[in-house]
Amino acid sequence: MPDLAGRCGCGSVTWSAQAEPLWGAMCHCEDCRRVASSDYVSWLGLPRAAVVWSGPRKCYRSSEKVVRSFCEGCGSPLSFESEVFPDETHVYAVTLNDPGIYVPTAHIFWSERLPWVTVNDTLPKHAKGLQDAAAKGVSLLD
Ligand SMILES: [Zn+2]
Ligand SMILES: [Zn+2]
Repeated sequence: MPDLAGRCGCGSVTWSAQAEPLWGAMCHCEDCRRVASSDYVSWLGLPRAAVVWSGPRKCYRSSEKVVRSFCEGCGSPLSFESEVFPDETHVYAVTLNDPGIYVPTAHIFWSERLPWVTVNDTLPKHAKGLQDAAAKGVSLLD
């Protein structure tokens, strides 16, 4: 099992997980872009029970079913948890101590991508996201 670990921008919040990553996907939805102030977000899905946090992490409910967290010191966004995926914590892949180990396998919410974002990979580009897929009982990610 890999020893995955990451940190916020100032380093005062750290996370670790002794687990295999569940999935990796780059999300282009507006919510992700706004919360991260980024053109899109590379998510790393982890088993929630395996993720251990330390430091001044602030959690808040960003919508009815979603709790997000960030570092109180530097404001770095850190995680996303949805009641739709009760066994998963989604962390920002670039918080990894070594982001180079991240392996994304798809783009999601491709239908909401910004017009000036271009990518030259050959990964699947799904129009919608994981919650829509879960509601339909299908998996977008292998
Ligand atoms: Zn911080
Ligand atoms: Zn998103």
